[in-house]
Amino acid sequence: MKKIILKAGKEKSLLRRHPWIYSGAISRVEGHPSDGDTVQIYTSQNVFLAHAAYNSKAPIAARVWSWQQDERIDEAFFYRKLTHALRFRKDLGLSQFSTGCRLVHGESDGLPGLVIDQYDRILVFQIGSVGAERWREVILDILKDLCHPICIYERSDTDVRELEGLIKHTGVLWGELPHDLIIEENGLHFAVDVMAGQKTGFYLDQRDNRAKIGTLAKEKDVLNCFCYSGGFSVYAKRGGAKSVLSVDSSEEALKLAQRNFALNGLATDSQEWQCADVFQMLRKLRDQNRKFDLIILDPPKFAPTASFAAKAARGYKDINLLAFKLLRPGGILATYSCSSGISSDLFQKIIAGAALDAGISAHIIEQQMAAPDHPILLSFPEGAYLKGLILKVSD
Ligand code: SAH
Repeated sequence: MKKIILKAGKEKSLLRRHPWIYSGAISRVEGHPSDGDTVQIYTSQNVFLAHAAYNSKAPIAARVWSWQQDERIDEAFFYRKLTHALRFRKDLGLSQFSTGCRLVHGESDGLPGLVIDQYDRILVFQIGSVGAERWREVILDILKDLCHPICIYERSDTDVRELEGLIKHTGVLWGELPHDLIIEENGLHFAVDVMAGQKTGFYLDQRDNRAKIGTLAKEKDVLNCFCYSGGFSVYAKRGGAKSVLSVDSSEEALKLAQRNFALNGLATDSQEWQCADVFQMLRKLRDQNRKFDLIILDPPKFAPTASFAAKAARGYKDINLLAFKLLRPGGILATYSCSSGISSDLFQKIIAGAALDAGISAHIIEQQMAAPDHPILLSFPEGAYLKGLILKVSD
C-alpha cells in the first residue's frame, strides 16, 4: 500500500479537514509512490485520515481527494465530484444572470488544483497540481459527457504549476474555439479572450461586486483602477456615471475594455482610457488636482502567500491612501484584495491606516467577496482570497 505516515501532532489540520499536507509534516513514505499517485494518509498512531494525491517535488506534498477510507479514487469518484460541483452551480440559479460561471473551484469543490470556467458553451480547463494532472483525460471525458461543450481550452499557465514541478500548457484540447467569444452578464455583454486574457479570460469572481458598483455610479465621476477588460467601468456607465476614467498597464486589456463599451452600445464621449501604472497615475491625478466621486481599486495579487504580506501591505496602503485623497467629500471607494496572503482583518486594518494617514474618516457600507460560484469551504479558509470593502468617506 502507498502510504504516508505523519509526524506526531501533524494530524491536527487534517482532523479539521484542511486538505493540504506539507512536506515537513511527513514522517515516512511507504510503498514508493510516484508523483500524482493516490496515497493513504495515516497519523503517527496509524489511524487513517484521508486519500490524497502525492507530490514529492512540491512544498504541499499531498492534497486530499477524500476523507472516507472506503472511497476509491477512480473514474467514478471524479464523476461524482464533477456532478456535485455542477449541481451546486445549478442550484445557485446563476444561469439566469450570466452565461459565464466557475464550474469547479479547486479545493473548495474537493478537487485540489482543478479550475473549470464556463464561458457560454466553451470550457476553460486549468490544472495546478500533479494530482489533478494525473486524471486529466478522465476529467476531460466526464466534462464532455456532463456539459456538452463545443470547445475545451486549456489555460494551465499559472505559476503554481512550477511549484508542482509541471510545465505550463495552453491550447485547444477538444473541439474548436470560436473566433469571437462573448458572454452575457446581468444583461451586459463582455468579450472574453480565453487564449491570451488574464486568468481564464475574465474575472467571473467580481460579477456581483461589479453589479453593486453599477447601482452606486449614477451621475458620478468614476475612476476605475486596474480595469482589465472594463467590467466595473461598463457597469458604472450603464448605471449612469457622468464620466469614467479607466486605468490599466496592459494595452490588450484596454483594447478589450473599449470593445466591451462598444458591445454594450455605451457612449464613449465621457470615457477616458489610460495605459499607465496605477501607482504613478494616482500621483499624477493628485498633482493635477483631479477629483472623483467613486473610485475602484482592484489590483492584481500583491501577496500570493502570507510571506509576502508585509510588502503587499505597503502596496495596498499606498494606493488606498492616494485614492482617499482623490475623492470628493462623501465619495465612495470600492477597494479589493485578491491576495490569499492577506486576511480580511488585515486588509481592513491596512485600509484604516490609509484613511488615517489621508486625514479622512470613512464608513464601511458593504463588505464583499467572490461570487458564489467561487464558494469558500469552511475548512479551507484560503478559499476566501477575494476581499472587498465599499467605503463612504465623510462629507
Ligand atoms: N477589475 C478587473 C480585474 C482586475 S485584474 C475586472 O473586474 O475585470 C488586475 C489588472 O491590473 C490587470 O488587468 C493588470 O493588467 C493590471 N495591472 C497590474 N499591475 C498594474 C499596475 N501597476 N498598474 C496598472 N495596472 C496594473
